[in-house]
Amino acid sequence: MLGQIMDRPLLISSLLEHAETTHGCSEIVSRRCEGDIHRYTMRDAAKRARKIANLLGRLGINQGDRIGTLAWNNYRHYELYYGISGTGAVLHTINPRLFAEQLVYIINHAEDRWIFVDLTFVPLLEAIKDQISAVEGFIVMCDESHMPETSLNNAHCYETMIAAESDEYEWPEFDERSACSMCYTSGTTGNPKGVVYSHRSTVIHALSSIGEEVMGLASTSCFLPVVPMFHVNAWGTPYSAAITGAKQVFPGPGMDGASLWELIEAEEPDLLLGVPTVWLMLLNHMDSIGKKLDSVENVIVGGSAAPISMIRAFQEKHDAFLIHAWGMTEMSPIGTLNSRNKHMENMPLEERYQLQAKQGRPIFGVEMKIIDDNNNELPRDGVAYGRLMVRGPWIINGYYKNEAADNFVDGWFDTGDVATIDDKNYLTIVDRSKDVIKSGGEWISSIDLENVAVGHPELAECCVIGVRHAKWDERPILLVIRNEGSSIDEQGVLDYLEDKIVKWWTPDAVVFVDELPHTATGKLHKVPLRQKYENYLLELEGA
Ligand code: AMP
Repeated sequence: MLGQIMDRPLLISSLLEHAETTHGCSEIVSRRCEGDIHRYTMRDAAKRARKIANLLGRLGINQGDRIGTLAWNNYRHYELYYGISGTGAVLHTINPRLFAEQLVYIINHAEDRWIFVDLTFVPLLEAIKDQISAVEGFIVMCDESHMPETSLNNAHCYETMIAAESDEYEWPEFDERSACSMCYTSGTTGNPKGVVYSHRSTVIHALSSIGEEVMGLASTSCFLPVVPMFHVNAWGTPYSAAITGAKQVFPGPGMDGASLWELIEAEEPDLLLGVPTVWLMLLNHMDSIGKKLDSVENVIVGGSAAPISMIRAFQEKHDAFLIHAWGMTEMSPIGTLNSRNKHMENMPLEERYQLQAKQGRPIFGVEMKIIDDNNNELPRDGVAYGRLMVRGPWIINGYYKNEAADNFVDGWFDTGDVATIDDKNYLTIVDRSKDVIKSGGEWISSIDLENVAVGHPELAECCVIGVRHAKWDERPILLVIRNEGSSIDEQGVLDYLEDKIVKWWTPDAVVFVDELPHTATGKLHKVPLRQKYENYLLELEGA
């Protein structure tokens, strides 16, 4: 017997229609690339999203076509989120921090038909324009007076283009399982891989995230997402905000401590969201000016582990609670959150900080377990650790174009993280089985780096591992075995790498060793190396 309930599709456009009619006055404030602060309402955003939809129609964009965006967190990007997905086209948010070869790869792999680009990133596209010649045109997100001279083919001005469009548009209805957006992850081995979200998965993720015990994005809330809209949809908050009508404050290109503080002081958000590196800059800035983040009640920190020193600094200097979160591009991204709960209320502070340092508990919709090498589930005792597997209605079941991947096992997705789970279902990430390093929120492939380094004729074997770093969470160090008779030094190795890798991939140290451990299958065995060298850079700095 089936339930007798209407089968209305869960579409991105339904979020916008709800927001316009119910929370039309909710504010959206943005720092623009042009330098000034812009403010308007949800009602304005909805109107302009319909203009975008008409523009896409005029450009001949069909449902399922991919449209790229290369943009900061700002109101125009917000309009594109809805304008593109609402028509049934697919919003492809491109991470400008990827290096040129990766940008070329993903734009071509996604087959983006048009790209919307913020002023800041026009030069990035100009540098690769001959390698992305299938893109039909570019729309620069500014008004006519800021339109730059550009060598991009078929470039247009955003404001001029949408001024010509009607703001009347009927959002189409289609299967809620249709793709609405995509984001590439470079946190895997090999080329970046495309993760394709559906309307249904995005709406359910938003519904599950808004609650008081989750992100707390109530209608009375004002939040500042520093986590980029080009990285897993700013953790889904642009969608969640449409449900509750929370005020949104977009930092645009101003991610440094001083710019963030300026915005916080003026707009008084109660909630901040971002990776640890950003908060380190803000905390240092606040120390230097001797001020307190008065309006801020909660800070959601994810993407990398939040250190206890940060949990303590927010609490003791700013009276703000740090909510540690864990997730992945492949998970839309939210997996777990370590929100304030009753249990914490009477806990001594130091004990509470230890608990807050855990990555938290799954939000409704996410199931997780840890397994051993034979795929047997391990106990939730906080001690046993194993590969962290997840499943749920906003977790991928395959990469775009069925890119080969070995992380799907019996309906579960292998996160590549190694973790413990305790008896209250708190997750603690203890290591990573995927061979990548996350530095300041961005990925570095150890394998790619090793392959380049081992090209040096005087090096016999190379191994790259991520170790702790005070500012960037993790940085790569390179362990090398020299060939017999070679006397190459650290500078010699770094000089060799200089024109072969992007600058920020450069290892922070080169360590010469006599041997490197291997597994039974002959692969580099990095677990003991990560343990041995975990504090190598911190100790170097302290020395
Ligand atoms: P991405 O897909 O780029 O967002 O990266 C997801 C990966 O970042 C996860 O699989 C983890 O390895 C790492 N990560 C995310 N959040 C945390 C966290 N709170 N603590 C430790 N690692 C994290």
